[in-house]
Amino acid sequence: MRTFSKSSKLDNVCYDIRGPVMDEADRMIAEGTKILKLNIGNPAPFDFNAPDEVIKAMTDNLRNAQGYSASKGVVQAREAIFKYHRRKNVPVESINDIYTGNGVSELIVMVMQGLLDNGDEVLLPAPDYPLWTASVTLAGGKAVHYICDEGSDWYPDIKDMERKITDRTKAIVIINPNNPTGSVYPREVLEEIAELARKHELIIFSDEIYDRLLMDGVEHTSIASLAPDIFCVTFNGISKSHMSAGFRAGWMVLSGNKKGAEGYIEGLNMLSSMRLCSNVQAQYVISEALKGTGAPDAELKPGGRIYEQRECIYRLLNDIDGITAVKPKAAFYIFPRLDAAKFNITDDEQFVLDFLREKKILLVHGGGFHWEQPDHFRIVFLPSVHELEYSMGELKDFLSGYRQK
Ligand code: PLP
Repeated sequence: MRTFSKSSKLDNVCYDIRGPVMDEADRMIAEGTKILKLNIGNPAPFDFNAPDEVIKAMTDNLRNAQGYSASKGVVQAREAIFKYHRRKNVPVESINDIYTGNGVSELIVMVMQGLLDNGDEVLLPAPDYPLWTASVTLAGGKAVHYICDEGSDWYPDIKDMERKITDRTKAIVIINPNNPTGSVYPREVLEEIAELARKHELIIFSDEIYDRLLMDGVEHTSIASLAPDIFCVTFNGISKSHMSAGFRAGWMVLSGNKKGAEGYIEGLNMLSSMRLCSNVQAQYVISEALKGTGAPDAELKPGGRIYEQRECIYRLLNDIDGITAVKPKAAFYIFPRLDAAKFNITDDEQFVLDFLREKKILLVHGGGFHWEQPDHFRIVFLPSVHELEYSMGELKDFLSGYRQK
């Protein structure tokens, strides 16, 4: 009988997104087990709602959204995106340099499909948001991970980045603010990255989807604003800042020196046209969402949910013997370190699986973010303080007796 298996191009891709932990969680859920999910950055299930004006723009525009739009998106949305990034000093020239997408996700896949030939290399952070690595691999490229340094607030290790540049390297990806670490890179670090890109003639891809979820008065700088002489692609969207991940509204902005990138841009235009356009109804929400700063301010200040949940998880994790964690400055993720020697952990995925089976709480192991040592995991702190307290109590209890064989 003829059989159909997945394309071999997906061999090293699916594992990043799926894997035994998710399979086990699905199995347990199907059996009726209730699982507390600390694994996914989707605000809606945790009683975060999109602002009323965003919901209104979505529902009001149903009739306007019946046809395909221009493949890069409706003018109204791209004008709002243009103004937003100009306010952040990104030297975007016109709305022709802006593409809307069905979330940033679609555009991440698109930029790699359009750029890479087999064996081309892209520098990506470790830990990373795994879709970036998966997209490089799917496009036939080689993902090369540079280390982000936990001892320096998880900033990229510039020396490691430079060491890993070869004559096949085409681009550097940064995720700033970062998922999974919550780190926000200061100007000096961004300038050093830009300098590397300048010296080695690399494209910069900067994923800034969390740039409106900042805490403690930290400011966000777009690397593109520091690099008008470098070809940069900046990614953003409303999934997180407007708690509307299901609407699928994201975008990318090309800026800087386009000389030499004309062929690549032609390829991006082709790929953009091939998917016809992104969800038109959601495009109409973008201008409403980006009025003002677009930040959910109240949630990010003392007394606000994201802020208080961050304080809570940071304190509880550092209270557990054998765990340390750097305080995130943005987004809703924390990437704690486990004392692997103390717990004899040689397989971080097994640790997460054992914890899931025993305590019905779902985490993601560090390896899922291309962190090589078996000594980290990620927690999403979107659940309430009450749920975080409960889950950290369970983690403490679990670890008190846990040793891998
Ligand atoms: N980039 C990063 C760093 C993310 O964490 C996520 C989602 O978690 C995305 C992109 C995907 O965003 P979107 O919903 O716009 O596809």
